[in-house]
Amino acid sequence: MNIVYLVVPCYNEQEVIDETSRRLVAKLTTLIQADRISADSRIIFVDDGSRDLTWRKITELCIAEPLVTGLRLSRNRGHQNALLAGLFTASESADAVISLDADLQDDIDAIDGFLEKYEEGYDIVYGVRSSRRKDSWFKRNTAQLFYKVMHILGAEVEYNHADYRLMSRRAVEALKEFGEVNLFLRGIVPLIGFPSARVLYERGERFAGESKYPLRKMISFALEGILSFSIKPIKMIMSLGLLVSAISIAMLLYFLIGYFVGHTVPGWTSTIVSIWAIGGLQLLSVGVIGEYIGKIYLETKHRPKFIIDEFIRHETASKDR
Ligand code: UDP
Ligand code: MG
Repeated sequence: MNIVYLVVPCYNEQEVIDETSRRLVAKLTTLIQADRISADSRIIFVDDGSRDLTWRKITELCIAEPLVTGLRLSRNRGHQNALLAGLFTASESADAVISLDADLQDDIDAIDGFLEKYEEGYDIVYGVRSSRRKDSWFKRNTAQLFYKVMHILGAEVEYNHADYRLMSRRAVEALKEFGEVNLFLRGIVPLIGFPSARVLYERGERFAGESKYPLRKMISFALEGILSFSIKPIKMIMSLGLLVSAISIAMLLYFLIGYFVGHTVPGWTSTIVSIWAIGGLQLLSVGVIGEYIGKIYLETKHRPKFIIDEFIRHETASKDR
C-alpha cells in the first residue's frame, strides 16, 4: 500500500492550524481505514519561521496526534522554499506527496481523485481550480493577466493551478536535480516531464486568519515566475531599441525635409518630449537587464534554499518541551 504524505507550509497560521490539523487527520484516517493508503502515511506541517504560536501549536499536535509531524525552518524563507523543504523531507519516507495550503482553501476531497490518478500511473497530478468565482475581481483579473503573459513569453504553466498537487517519489527526486535558487515551482514541475494528469476542484475561501500573500508579495512572485522562466523580456529590449532608432531616423528625415521646404520647427516641446521618452525607455531597459543580473548574482552564490532547524514526529516529540 502506498505511503502518502501531506505537506502543509505554515507561516503565522495560529488561527487555522488546529482546525486544519483536525480536518486533515480525519481525511487521512478515512483513507487509511478504507485501505486506500498505508497506515504509515503522515501530515508534515512546515513552519516557515512563524513569529506567532504556530510552532508551539504544531509541537502540541505532534504529541497528541500520531499522524502529525512537524518540520521547522531556521527562519522565514517564503512559501515556495517551505514547500520544497517539506517535499524533500517527505520523499524520504513517502511514495507520494501532496502539497496544500494551511488555510484549506483547496478542497481536500480532491485528494481521492489525486490518488486515483496516481494509482493509474501518473507521477504528477495537478489540482486545477474549476472556477475563480470566489476570488475578488482584482485577483481574478490579475491572475488571468499573469497566465496570459506567461503564455506569450513561452513558459509552460498549468492554467489555474496553484501549489495543490500530488507528486510521486521519483518526481520529487527529479525535482531535486533542479538547483535553482530563484524558485517558482509551478514553472519547474512541468519541466520534470513525467506523465501528468489534472483533477478539477472548487477553491473556497480562507476559513480564518488573513492572507499571507499581500499584493507586494503577489507581484514579486509573479515577476519571479516570468523572469526565471523566460528571457523574452530581455530580447524585447533589443527590438524596442531597434524600433525607437527607426522612429528617430524617420523623425530626422521629416524635420530635415521640413527645414528645406521652409517650415521652421516650432518650439522645444517635441525635443523635450523625445528626451523624456528615450530617457524613460533606457531606464526601463536597464532595469530589466538589472533584474536578470540580480537573479544571476543570486544563483551564482549557491546558497541553501532552506535550513531545517528541527523535524519532530509523534514518536520523538516529548511532553517536556
Ligand atoms: N506561506 C508560507 N510562507 C510565507 C507566506 C505564506 O509558508 O512566507 C504559506 C501560508 O501559511 C499558506 C500558504 O503559504 O499555507 C499560502 O498562503 P495564503 O493562503 O496566505 O495565500 P493566498 O491563498 O491568500 O494566496
Ligand atoms: Mg490561501
